[in-house]
Amino acid sequence: MRRIAIVGGGQAGLPLALGLLDKGYQVTVVTNRTPDDVCNGRVMSSQCMFDSSLQFERDLELNPWETQCPPVEGIGFVVPHPKIFDEKVIEWSARLDKYAQSVDQRIKMPFWMEQFASRGGNLVIDDVGIIELERLADSHELVILAGGKGEIVKLLERDISRSPYDKPQRALALTYVNGMLPTPEYSRVSFNLIPGVGEYFVFPALTLNGPCDIMVFEGIPGGVMDGWREARTPQKHLAYSKQILKTFLPWEAERCKQVELTDANGILAGCFAPVVRKPVLTLPSGQQIFGLGDTVVTNDPLTGQGSNNATKACKVYYEAILARGDKPFTAEWMNDTFETFWKYAHYVVEWTNSLLVPPEPHILHLLGAAQQLPALASTIANAFNHPPVLFPWWKDSQACEEYIQSQTIQKASA
Ligand SMILES: Cc1cc2nc3c(=O)[nH]c(=O)nc-3n(C[C@H](O)[C@H](O)[C@H](O)COP(=O)(O)OP(=O)(O)OC[C@H]3O[C@@H](n4cnc5c(N)ncnc54)[C@H](O)[C@@H]3O)c2cc1C
Repeated sequence: MRRIAIVGGGQAGLPLALGLLDKGYQVTVVTNRTPDDVCNGRVMSSQCMFDSSLQFERDLELNPWETQCPPVEGIGFVVPHPKIFDEKVIEWSARLDKYAQSVDQRIKMPFWMEQFASRGGNLVIDDVGIIELERLADSHELVILAGGKGEIVKLLERDISRSPYDKPQRALALTYVNGMLPTPEYSRVSFNLIPGVGEYFVFPALTLNGPCDIMVFEGIPGGVMDGWREARTPQKHLAYSKQILKTFLPWEAERCKQVELTDANGILAGCFAPVVRKPVLTLPSGQQIFGLGDTVVTNDPLTGQGSNNATKACKVYYEAILARGDKPFTAEWMNDTFETFWKYAHYVVEWTNSLLVPPEPHILHLLGAAQQLPALASTIANAFNHPPVLFPWWKDSQACEEYIQSQTIQKASA
């Protein structure tokens, strides 16, 4: 059977490895952290995944935590008043047609790694560089690089035409907590866009010690939500998280009076530039490596799409590998496979990047109109599962106005 190597034991690499293993491929996964390292390490993501991504994991039977993980049943959106404390200029919420879920990657990845090894996969713990890639390419018919944001992925060339930013656009932080008050009626990603400051969103999840809530902070660099470097201990990190809410989002602070960290590793602060890379890396020997997941498309977490993208790319690659049969995995095949994924992913990248700059007037009008138009709010909420539905009107102001108009007429005639 064909021999495939995957570098990186994360959200993109492991489902692909497990899927191919089930189909009889000989699969090697080389990753630089053991299951124990991952389980005992820091949180890495907020990893909220929407239904179509979850479905791929269900199809591969990789979701044993589905019944324990609290569902995320909707999306809420708030813009606070820029001058009047405790007032909101926009507020709406809508249910998702099917729930989303977030399972701490410290639970997921160790479990998947162990499953991979116990089902007969070759799991190797090693920090891969060019020499190791060459060796893998010598002994495998296809080598996939799914190294996330690791240094190694910088070997792939940045695609300037698809990467408008060369610097981080947000100061990111995560705070995993217990004891947060739930939202009324249904659980949700409560998204708050604070003009000139950044964004805060929060939702229920499953972590090592059970259900929790994950607070995600996206501060404009150098701004008032970019003070994480000073918060040097877990308790200071928590205190700074609460202080931001008290200052800008009192309704969210209200939910957090009793919160405590889930564990000392339930915090993260950092930043990275969103980037799209060319999918094929040619090694000094001339052998070619194929990039997958964050390695090729790293999105800012603002729209919560990275794990979703990684999973959707994984599905495209999985189907393309199966469809390839016995034919060689050429650079042309790699580029074509990536372009198949990009037909979907370019919408996700465009949508996310558009929210990293002050919103255009038609977007503000759209988000405001969703307050009066529940069907519009529902469409925007459900777009988190499939962002292409936002186009063309997310990008094109005239199409946007026409769309709002059509929704208004529909509501009036209902
Ligand atoms: C703050 C934050 C919040 C986020 N929130 C969300 C969210 O709500 N929803 C969402 O969908 N996405 C979210 N994401 C993004 C999501 O976590 C990533 O997009 C996703 O994990 C990417 O999967 P991946 O497999 O490409 O990379 P990863 O999951 O990072 O896996 C990469 C793997 O490669 C290994 N590796 C790296 N270098 C090497 C090397 N040299 N040799 C061997 N192994 C190596 C790593 O150890 C790791 O196992 C968030 C990210 C951040 C930072």
